[in-house]
Amino acid sequence: MPRDNIIIKCTVCGEENYIGSKNKRSHPERMEIKKYCPRCNKMTLHKEKK
Ligand SMILES: [Zn+2]
Repeated sequence: MPRDNIIIKCTVCGEENYIGSKNKRSHPERMEIKKYCPRCNKMTLHKEKK
């Protein structure tokens, strides 16, 4: 079962804060998640970078 590495990017400042992996076959949609951004110094919406 292939898993692809993805980069999770802050949508506010564009910082690439997290690296993860997911199965694109079972989760084809772009991931969106609220996470802490050290540059913004707060919780922001993060999106998967394509
Ligand atoms: Zn940020």
